[in-house]
Amino acid sequence: MAEAREATRFAPSPSGRLHVGHVLAAVEARRLADELGGLCRLRIEDIDLQRCRPEYAEALLDDLAWLGLRFDGEVMVQSRRMEIYRQALELLKGMGVLYPCFCTRKEIAERMAEMPRAPHGTACDAYPGTCRAMGQGEREARLAAGEAHAWRLDCRRVQDVTGSLEWLDLNEGRQVCEPSRLGDVILARKDFPVSYHLAVTVDDAAQGITHVTRGMDLFESTHVHRVLQALLGLPVPVWKHHGLLCDEYGRRLAKRDGARSLESLRSAGMEPGRLLASIEQALARGGVWKME
Ligand code: GLU
Repeated sequence: MAEAREATRFAPSPSGRLHVGHVLAAVEARRLADELGGLCRLRIEDIDLQRCRPEYAEALLDDLAWLGLRFDGEVMVQSRRMEIYRQALELLKGMGVLYPCFCTRKEIAERMAEMPRAPHGTACDAYPGTCRAMGQGEREARLAAGEAHAWRLDCRRVQDVTGSLEWLDLNEGRQVCEPSRLGDVILARKDFPVSYHLAVTVDDAAQGITHVTRGMDLFESTHVHRVLQALLGLPVPVWKHHGLLCDEYGRRLAKRDGARSLESLRSAGMEPGRLLASIEQALARGGVWKME
């Protein structure tokens, strides 16, 4: 049982070595937990078996220990929780808010190319809705034939079930929930029985997370997570999406910038205290990170 204390979490995906952007996310989670007198949990988000590797998971634990960042309680590992995600998926299917999607990436790309662009080019046009419109007979026949399929959230139906919802971001204020911003997202992939959105929502509840800190790049995803919480009857945390680090030219720091991985910084003789200080300096300059 999760303790009834306020809790934040750091939830890296072990698809490469940690980089300075991860250090910021970890620092933000630890700092908010300390401000609240609460706990900071660690979760390894390794459900993408093609990209994640056990050796990266080990390396990230080693990097966090080297940094001296402390986490509370047991480390949660998503790849060990498949049965729990499967049950959540079944619940959602039973509510009629999911539909199977048989489209290949190529088919989606072709359909998208034919469609008029949405005025603001938002992520709404990420999926053309082909399988949403499929008749029940065809759907059942294709499922019965064992055709490979993902499961998508039917954003149009979802709001009829949940009614209007809100969520609170400590930096950005109260948000009216608009799950359709990301389109009909995938909740279970063709090759894998769960997706980021479902696993993260189930796990934040399981770890008793009251305050979700993460980068602004995941802000839109929160609309989906809020809806899933309502559907699955899970507690609703508050969120604090933080800014992302960039280089002097305003380019976002990313995993591909090998020079900012902890592996290369450590092997170049970097001290953990100096790295943590560089993150504080970056925050003081609006997110521009450079190694002094
Ligand atoms: N696992 C995600 C990542 O490494 C973060 C997920 C989250 O904080 O919700 O980008």
